[in-house]
Amino acid sequence: MESGANGDSIEKLQGLQITPLDDDDEEEREMVAYEYEDDDEDDGEDEEEQEPVTLGFLEKPKNRWSLLRHLFPSKAGGPPAWLDPINLPTGRSCLCDMCGEPLQFVLQVYAPIIEKESTFHRTLFLFMCPSMACLRRDQHEQWKRPPEKASRSVKVFRCQLPRSNPYYSSEPPKCNGTDKPSGPGVSLCNWCGTWKGDKVCSSCRRAHYCQQKHQVTHWRSGHKVECQKLNLSSPSSDSNLADAGTTSDDTVH
Ligand SMILES: [Zn+2]
Ligand SMILES: [Zn+2]
Ligand SMILES: [Zn+2]
Repeated sequence: MESGANGDSIEKLQGLQITPLDDDDEEEREMVAYEYEDDDEDDGEDEEEQEPVTLGFLEKPKNRWSLLRHLFPSKAGGPPAWLDPINLPTGRSCLCDMCGEPLQFVLQVYAPIIEKESTFHRTLFLFMCPSMACLRRDQHEQWKRPPEKASRSVKVFRCQLPRSNPYYSSEPPKCNGTDKPSGPGVSLCNWCGTWKGDKVCSSCRRAHYCQQKHQVTHWRSGHKVECQKLNLSSPSSDSNLADAGTTSDDTVH
């Protein structure tokens, strides 16, 4: 494993984190402005005339639980609150098409269309590669490629659920801190907290990872010690540390 590259990408990830704003000064608020982008081909000509649209701004959450998935949050930074907690994006769709590194969560917007049964719950998730080089390449290369061959370093996923679904009550949440989801989600990566952790630490078999790179990073940043403790606290498991630092591809149920 290229340790230099790993350290480098952690720094980039940390640089990307969106920290909550401590004061309520209107001017200090970080504006989140996006150019409204329409996918329709025929709107292409007036693209240059479009004014930037401010979709919202960041505010500190009133309660930490208000960002949990069963409260259907719109949020920026931290791990995503996946709407469908089981059917997460997998494989290549979680990676930057330029460098192959896992994409970093940027923000999510809860945007239900309640007129339609299938979109009673609907959330859009925005991810991007933390590497500036990839973002520049993405910007420069997109116009050259046909849309079906596009390779992106920024991706948006849409997830929608009907009102009656296995994950949440069909009644609105009480929003008093007592709400619970109807069932657990899949295990997420212990390092990035973002993608499905379908690889497990072969030593403790409790830590989950989306890919080996994140397992190695987690190991170096403290799991090495934690893993040993986990092994000591459960004598039945194999505590042979020679195996540590590897993952196996099986899912723990
Ligand atoms: Zn990239
Ligand atoms: Zn991960
Ligand atoms: Zn472990």
